[in-house]
Amino acid sequence: MLKTNPSLERLGTESAFEVLARAQELVSQGKSIINLGIGQPDFSTPDHIVEAGIKSLKDGHHGYTPANGLPALREAVCEDLARRHSVRVNSKNIVIVPGGKPTMFFTILMFGEPGAEILYPNPGFPIYESLIKYSGATPIPIALEEENGFAFQAEKVLSQITPRTRLIIINSPANPTGGVTPKSEIDKLVSGLIEHPNVAILSDEIYSEMLYDGRKHTSLLQYPEIRDRLIMLDGWSKTYAMTGWRLGYAVWPDQLVDHATRLCINDHSCVNASAQYAGLAALTGPRDDINKMFSAFNDRRKIIVSKLNKIPGFRCTNSAGAFYAFPNIEETGLTSRNAQDRFLNEAGVAAIAGTSFGNSGEGFIRFSYANSIENIEEALFRIENIL
Ligand code: PLP
Repeated sequence: MLKTNPSLERLGTESAFEVLARAQELVSQGKSIINLGIGQPDFSTPDHIVEAGIKSLKDGHHGYTPANGLPALREAVCEDLARRHSVRVNSKNIVIVPGGKPTMFFTILMFGEPGAEILYPNPGFPIYESLIKYSGATPIPIALEEENGFAFQAEKVLSQITPRTRLIIINSPANPTGGVTPKSEIDKLVSGLIEHPNVAILSDEIYSEMLYDGRKHTSLLQYPEIRDRLIMLDGWSKTYAMTGWRLGYAVWPDQLVDHATRLCINDHSCVNASAQYAGLAALTGPRDDINKMFSAFNDRRKIIVSKLNKIPGFRCTNSAGAFYAFPNIEETGLTSRNAQDRFLNEAGVAAIAGTSFGNSGEGFIRFSYANSIENIEEALFRIENIL
């Protein structure tokens, strides 16, 4: 028997990938499965982005790039941040990484160690809790509540800070709930954090271009008073339908940026060059396809939320951002896990149990509406039938 590091036993997972594998197995057995499980756009990457990736390969960009990313791409990220959030960021603070996840990994490993506490959203993206446990730190859940539209309550977050708190993770718009935290709460949170100058903040803003009903995204970058301890995570996966390209970035504070680059050198050297050229085309090219995708998500959102609320035993808050609906299903009498299994095995609908996103997700189930209106309608019809 090999003797491995015991921290491996504490590593969790993202069940969306397991449900995807099970759904694919059922499809290979000839079953009809509608996938509302995995959180990725059902659209292809827009053509001009794909073409830029291909062109870069034909032009001979086959080698390593700087570990922190192509200078032109880092500059383009700064321009994009100026356009979207009206903030000035120096390109030396940008580190390009393979997707959104590496920034989480680096940040949590920078701050997590036995004795340290890290606050994270629950229900929330499952990798936060997994990595906190892996690092040996104590995960302190910030419970997000249905009655607040799953937004963060600043006072509650601040009341959970102790002398052991090293890092607070926030995510708005949020996975799995679709919740968006209003600017007023973020203002309060930032003012309260002034009292805790040694606490770092990881703001996961990967859904920052997906807010509905005229809501405007508030980026934590817009608060100069916390810039020296803010890590802002964003990327191309969701906005540009580029999940498989593996491309993301973070804005790092001066104190941490060289550590982040050194982690890149130790981990993956650099992101593959053609993905970076494609990412550059995404940021600098036309936005018509992006706007079309967003408008399709918005149409589907209205339909799924309204239809979920008509299924007996379901109650669904409005999804304010991202592409997830997170209905409460307690009144069906099913646990989240039962619902996930029954929906997949009996109705042929892949959805993810709320408990996959933490204990506070019991009684809920996540549907991704990154699928066609026909499929969404058929999926909900099948679920209502088996219930
Ligand atoms: N952050 C959140 C909140 C997510 O939902 C996801 C993916 O689902 C990620 C980060 C990771 O994105 P990527 O696929 O680019 O690693």
